[in-house]
Amino acid sequence: MSDSTSGSAGGHVTVIGAGIVGTCSALYLQREGFDVTLIDRDGPGEGASLGNAGSLGVASIPPGSMPGLIWKLPGMMLDPLTPLAVDRLYMLRSMPWFLRFMWNSRRSKVEQIADGRNALLSRIFEGYQPLLDDAGAEDLVAHHGKLHVYERADGLARSAYALEMRRRRGVKVQEMSGDEAREMEPVLSPIIKGAAFFPDVHTVINPLRLVQVFAQHFVRRGGTLLRESVSGFEIGADGPSRIITDAGSHEVDKVVIATGAWSIPLAKQMGLNPPLEAERGYHNMITDPGIEISVSITSNERYVVLTQMEHGLRVSGIAQFSGLHSEPDYTLADRVLENARVVVPGLKGKVESKWAGPRPSLPDSLPIIGPSPRYPKIYFAFGHDHVGLATGAITGKLIGELVAGRPTSVDLTPYRADRY
Ligand SMILES: Cc1cc2nc3c(=O)[nH]c(=O)nc-3n(C[C@H](O)[C@H](O)[C@H](O)COP(=O)(O)OP(=O)(O)OC[C@H]3O[C@@H](n4cnc5c(N)ncnc54)[C@H](O)[C@@H]3O)c2cc1C
Repeated sequence: MSDSTSGSAGGHVTVIGAGIVGTCSALYLQREGFDVTLIDRDGPGEGASLGNAGSLGVASIPPGSMPGLIWKLPGMMLDPLTPLAVDRLYMLRSMPWFLRFMWNSRRSKVEQIADGRNALLSRIFEGYQPLLDDAGAEDLVAHHGKLHVYERADGLARSAYALEMRRRRGVKVQEMSGDEAREMEPVLSPIIKGAAFFPDVHTVINPLRLVQVFAQHFVRRGGTLLRESVSGFEIGADGPSRIITDAGSHEVDKVVIATGAWSIPLAKQMGLNPPLEAERGYHNMITDPGIEISVSITSNERYVVLTQMEHGLRVSGIAQFSGLHSEPDYTLADRVLENARVVVPGLKGKVESKWAGPRPSLPDSLPIIGPSPRYPKIYFAFGHDHVGLATGAITGKLIGELVAGRPTSVDLTPYRADRY
């Protein structure tokens, strides 16, 4: 038997939310020796984890809110061509979030956040490797590297701080001219004037299938997977004693809330009101694109990502703030594609599907990983914004250690719930 049953904690844990974060948490809790129930109202991985760009991005250290953003953001909010789409009616409601977001763009704070992100991103494979080995899912991870391309001649110079921030934390970065970038990826347009290549970025070539394979493995190992929607908790003398679902209720002992962008209602009942926004992104799947790419390509100016998946080319992007429950606006997916065609003019083919899904984003670009300040048997694991795929497995490992009462591999102070 592998070391996958190394734990000896015992007891029962309920994990709510079977996205990449909840499913990895469930697997690590099993490894710690817990009996685990994983609950999702949909199939595993069908939330934000379905449609991401697949990047296991060791280089995604810079937070969303960088120095200077305060001057750029108002213009970005009003420019229909930027990747930021803020619904005008929703703008007022999301303003407190944006104010906090901008407040975090102070350089000292940015460095602190970058350390918090790096502590998770530098451990991507410490989290994933044991799960990939156990589930036999190594074929879902490819080593592509990632190329950030710039249209502006001074693009690299303008990104100097973000590049140096990565280098200082050990990330390999190769700066290139436009011609060198085109040597690597001949499909790139002549408008590309420079690029930064991150050779150590890996790609999950089907993020939905990864969660599904993990969830199947969880069930094979004796885990219980339920398809129910959780609406709340019954609180007993020692805290939550049952969860209420659309199918009835279940007795609970320890509970992990890993419900991504939908976490506010459950977190609120557990004593936390996190400033969580749904930052909706979009993708197009193209099965016959007429081009081949050997690395993932991100346009720095247009924030469009092209990723070769096992089932076609995925072209993703956009950060839309319009509330979790608004209807997706698929013209934004069209905007993503138009922008991609500027960067890669040969991109053709029929769009097989369009998708929209919410990144769970907190204004300091760090997730919440830790116990509820009010109920010690309730744990939070949500708010992984643009890097939830990359950091899902290490979050699961940390949740396993935390719930088992063991010292955690990473200091959880930057992610504690009571910072809000
Ligand atoms: C366009 C786009 C591109 C991205 N690219 C990348 C990338 O390249 N790399 C990267 O690392 N990250 C990327 N991300 C971010 C990443 O996808 C998310 O951070 C991650 O999927 C969040 O995972 P999660 O498990 O927290 O949430 P989810 O995957 O959304 O899972 C939450 C689950 O909770 C369930 N749920 C919610 N409420 C309830 C309830 N009350 N009862 C029962 N079940 C409930 C939902 O059904 C859902 O399955 C991208 C995101 C988008 C949108």
